[in-house]
Amino acid sequence: MQPANSKLIEIILFSNEVINSLEDKDDFGAAAGILLKQQQTKWDKIIEGYNSLKAVQTKYFEFDGFRINVQFNPNRIISSSATVDENSIKKRKCFLCIDNLFEDQKGLIYSHEYIILANPYPIFPEHFTVSNVNHFPQRINDIFHVLLSLSKSTSKYFTVFYNGPKCGASAPDHLHFQAGNKYFMPIDKDYPQLKKQYGEILFEEYGFTVTAVNDNLRRFIAFEGESEEVLIYAFSLFFETYSLLQKYEDEPMMNILSSFETGKGWRIIIFLREKHRPSHYYAAGDKNILLSPAAVDLGGVCITPRETDFTKITKDHLLEILNEVSVGEDFFKSFKLILRENLNKLFLAH
Ligand SMILES: [Zn+2]
Repeated sequence: MQPANSKLIEIILFSNEVINSLEDKDDFGAAAGILLKQQQTKWDKIIEGYNSLKAVQTKYFEFDGFRINVQFNPNRIISSSATVDENSIKKRKCFLCIDNLFEDQKGLIYSHEYIILANPYPIFPEHFTVSNVNHFPQRINDIFHVLLSLSKSTSKYFTVFYNGPKCGASAPDHLHFQAGNKYFMPIDKDYPQLKKQYGEILFEEYGFTVTAVNDNLRRFIAFEGESEEVLIYAFSLFFETYSLLQKYEDEPMMNILSSFETGKGWRIIIFLREKHRPSHYYAAGDKNILLSPAAVDLGGVCITPRETDFTKITKDHLLEILNEVSVGEDFFKSFKLILRENLNKLFLAH
């Protein structure tokens, strides 16, 4: 059922009939591409955003087996320096609520209750926000299946990602995902090597694999498999295990990347987080670096909205920053043990 909100009806770019007329009617990636093209001629914020994207600078650092890019993107200052404490969030107008969207902003309805919007502060050559039509808080556990279906529906072009409410979401009070071009984040390409070089298989059964990776910068768990049902069950086990170990009140801290390939299925990468922002973010003087890591940064595109930071940032800074915001080595070791045990015990009983 589509919600009967007059503003919502007004902003829908085209109906599902247009999507149905596409060669593949579940190809929301192609539909999103059409949306972006339309917005690039009609909505000034998008025009500005993509014009400034042409001027971004990128440099990269090679680590053993993988790469991290740094992108100087002044347009991201709002997101990188967003105050997301409860009070500030309560005081501001939610920019994802339908009633507060810009006049020329258009969207596409996805799966009845989500709306695909072009992101006016792009990092990717094509960057979208996919938000719920209702003002629900950002929580992953009940909507993990939407992340799966969305990454399948946009799989020809995009990787879909989720930022937890305490570690990167600039609207922690409004349920949303984002999507950006596949292979733009180095991890999309580097993953097989990371798995080989730093991975430890925790579970492998029914064509489904769970791998734990610690590449000395980031600690993450990866799921690979074709069965939606198995992935959803495994995520609920993961979530329960992580929640028990990281006693955080809303949800344990994580950033997730999800991509889908026909014939291979899904690959879900879950970065485990300990901190929202690193000490460099708060440091005074020369030590100060405005880098506030979320899914894209952990995926290997670190955003610096200030040129001074872009110029001075080194490989060692990245090592310090990503390590500091990721869960510690000891936590990861204990977590791996318990997760392995739970997966082996409960999957076979399920
Ligand atoms: Zn909202």
